[in-house]
Amino acid sequence: AKENGSSQYQFYDAERDQTSLERIILENDLEQSLDNDQIRLFYQPKIDIRSGEIVGLEALVRWEHPILGMIPPLEFIPLAEKSGFIIPLEQWVLRTACTQVKKWEREGRQVVPVAVNVSQIHLMKPDIFQTIMSTIRELDFDTQLLELEITESAMMHNEEHVISILNDLQGAGISVSMDDFGTGYSSLSYLQSLPIGCLKIDRSFVRKITTDTDSRAIAEMIISMAKQLGLTIVAEGVETIEQVALLKEIQCYNAQGFYYSKPVSADQIEGQYLE
Ligand code: C2E
Ligand code: CA
Ligand code: CA
Ligand code: CA
Repeated sequence: AKENGSSQYQFYDAERDQTSLERIILENDLEQSLDNDQIRLFYQPKIDIRSGEIVGLEALVRWEHPILGMIPPLEFIPLAEKSGFIIPLEQWVLRTACTQVKKWEREGRQVVPVAVNVSQIHLMKPDIFQTIMSTIRELDFDTQLLELEITESAMMHNEEHVISILNDLQGAGISVSMDDFGTGYSSLSYLQSLPIGCLKIDRSFVRKITTDTDSRAIAEMIISMAKQLGLTIVAEGVETIEQVALLKEIQCYNAQGFYYSKPVSADQIEGQYLE
């Protein structure tokens, strides 16, 4: 595994009980975090396990708080969703990720598609498609190099609206991945009705595939079903060589996880994968 770029920072302790005062301070600071230049974008590679080549990147946010240190997304995304700050935050993520890929392209490097996460709150915004497209046009970004990751549970919300947004995105050449697949209990027929390109098998299955026969059976079923539907599959949270070997055996060829790399800075991605 490669060196984690965030290791120099002290991590905010998620286990510690938050007092309501702390929560109020966090919520307040969060609203200012973009203006105060405290939001960082890290990238985790998606790897083809047969060749070891990079096939994509996922952009993941961190908040570098001046006092609390590096705060992981699971600590502040829920706050951002509650306050609505998630909308400007994810617009910043999209702009930053696309700008980064453009820069790599200009420098003559090999480029791969970048994926950004879209929350349910953002997905439900009536003008989400227009705002994404206006950023893409402004940056003159190739839509083939952009993917959106939407969780299975967010997609199961307000199905008609979701299907219409996904159709618009597909029409514009932007592919959508169903994130955390296996945790949201969506039906097979619903899956079939969605214009998506990829399923990301949740880490909770991947973690157990080498030790638990049920998890392995579920993973195999997901993979054969995805093949039937013409979807690509990415295994999330791959940590061991045994998991890599098993995934290869059950013909899941794309993986993301600490076995290959933790999420790292753009500079580290550049040095390790895009020379
Ligand atoms: P996710 O979308 O499922 O992203 C993958 C998470 O799994 C990342 O955590 C990544 O560091 C972690 N991970 C990857 N490989 C491994 C592994 O091998 N082992 C383990 N234990 N973990 C692994 P991270 O960066 O802390 O992000 C957590 C979640 O925060 C993400 O889960 C995503 O749901 C959310 N998130 C991050 N950025 C955004 C964003 O811009 N918008 C929204 N809505 N959510 C975001
Ligand atoms: Ca994701
Ligand atoms: Ca995921
Ligand atoms: Ca996950």
